[in-house]
Amino acid sequence: MTDFQQVRALALVLSTLVIATCFPASAQLKDLSLQLRWKHQFQFAGYYIAKEKGFYKQQGLNVTLLPYGKDSPAPVDAILNHQADFAISSSAVAIHRMQAKPIVALSALMQSSPLVWITLKKNGYTAPQDIVDKPLPTLPAPESAELLTVFRKEGFRLDELQLETQNASINDLVLGNVAALNAYVSNEPYQLEQSGYEYNLIKPKDYGVNFYSDVLITHEAFVEQHPATVDKFKQASLKGWRYALTNIDETIKIIKEKYAPDKSLKHLYYEANHLKELIMPELVQLGHMNPDRWKTIAENYIQLGMAGNQPDFGQMDNLIYQKPVKNTRILIHTIIISLFIILILSILAWRFFYLSSTLKREISRRQYAEKKLIKANNELKAQALTDPLTKIYNRRAFFEKGDAILKLSVRKQLSCALIMLDIDHFKDINDTFGHDAGDVALKQITQVLNQSIIRSHDILARIGGEEFAILMVDCRLEDAAQVAERILQVISAHKIVLPDGSEINLTISMGLSEVELDLSQALTHADVALYQAKENGRNCYYIFNERLPNKIYKPQTA
Ligand code: GH3
Ligand code: MG
Ligand code: MG
Repeated sequence: MTDFQQVRALALVLSTLVIATCFPASAQLKDLSLQLRWKHQFQFAGYYIAKEKGFYKQQGLNVTLLPYGKDSPAPVDAILNHQADFAISSSAVAIHRMQAKPIVALSALMQSSPLVWITLKKNGYTAPQDIVDKPLPTLPAPESAELLTVFRKEGFRLDELQLETQNASINDLVLGNVAALNAYVSNEPYQLEQSGYEYNLIKPKDYGVNFYSDVLITHEAFVEQHPATVDKFKQASLKGWRYALTNIDETIKIIKEKYAPDKSLKHLYYEANHLKELIMPELVQLGHMNPDRWKTIAENYIQLGMAGNQPDFGQMDNLIYQKPVKNTRILIHTIIISLFIILILSILAWRFFYLSSTLKREISRRQYAEKKLIKANNELKAQALTDPLTKIYNRRAFFEKGDAILKLSVRKQLSCALIMLDIDHFKDINDTFGHDAGDVALKQITQVLNQSIIRSHDILARIGGEEFAILMVDCRLEDAAQVAERILQVISAHKIVLPDGSEINLTISMGLSEVELDLSQALTHADVALYQAKENGRNCYYIFNERLPNKIYKPQTA
């Protein structure tokens, strides 16, 4: 597999995973049930909307709404007995919690209880003290605890109350069997209005009794086992409520059509308006629960004697649902920190890479420049030591290289000899054939000497216009004389071909000397010998030998 194919395969696997995670197939919807605390009515609008508008489905949930009926379990029992996953209950869940029942409250929809005392206007009962000594209905404790707390708040003892009439209804109120009826703010007042009765409401809230109502609850074990599901259900339900409260007309239409066809539109609107006042969506975050308020509610239950034997107040800390954010938060922190570290490392790596590549470029640039410089220097040096016409060593190089060789030779006790050459009547060549022809002749003489005479370790140099010098290492004067013989032969046999095609013969004269330590002295000696060669007919060589009496002589063989 090529790199590209590997990357493509990886991308495919990742995208499949992402799609599968973000868009679970509808077949994988999780079935859940919600036990309502009454029959279908506006009181549960948010849950209907969450279902009908697909908010639950978007979270992968399939929710069944169970209306309260004759055979239904009480909402709290439905949860404790695992008959429903969620339920809507009253503040009485605090009692269950204090009895160590594993109930968890997810949200409290109504910030104030909808329970009220309702009286007929004509009787003039408007406050608790007006009815404290009058016949009242028996109350379904602890669901109606708010209504009893009102009396306590006003300083009455509960045993003063005449809670006598069983299963009291509106009729009992109208007939005067009870002075006040425990009522739901969105129901009985509406019914009285419909029947043409005027009424007064004694609201617990007005006496500082502020109980939550319509509390969404679930089982503690369910939270532990399915934390994500619980959170999704809660969020989708609240989303449903937000929608319902801002789209009352549409919501009522849906409830009427699909859930409560028997309820009149008028009643549904009545209910909506009164419950919205208790939900207070403009003032309080939907479903909000304050731990201190829950504790106050719990204290009220204890004081009313409704919290059972030995209520455990400390259990109240376990009532409110805690979003399972801990692990997620740690995970998010870890991811953020990891990303941050990766980012820093990437920046450092990039910076390092950038700097090292810049450095590398700079180093190679400098190396290149240095090489060029060395090359140019070498060329300059070579130029400084080379005769431009013949390309052999010039006079300066002759002394530089020669001195170095001499030192080595002295150390190794090798004798060295010097031959100084001068072309005979060279001026005539220039004069006869031109200066260029002279140059050609100089080059050809050099070539002949280089090819046929000079050994690799000898030094041939052009030390003047038509003058050359040869320094020969490990060479005695006699050996040098033989070399001079050969030069005479080779040069006289060589035909110089001039630019115009004409051929000429040249001769040379030479002076030989022994070289000891001083090269320039040896050159002076050779020059003296050369002068003798010129004086004595040219085309020959003379030897300067300090050890002989005459010093300068012409060898027999020459
Ligand atoms: P002799 O036999 O006494 O050495 O006579 P000569 O003519 O060779 O000597 P002279 O010293 O009178 O002349 C040397 C000539 O060499 C003079 C000069 O013009 C010529 N010459 C020196 N350098 C060059 C050069 O680079 N190119 C050419 N074409 N001629 C050169
Ligand atoms: Mg000369
Ligand atoms: Mg000459």
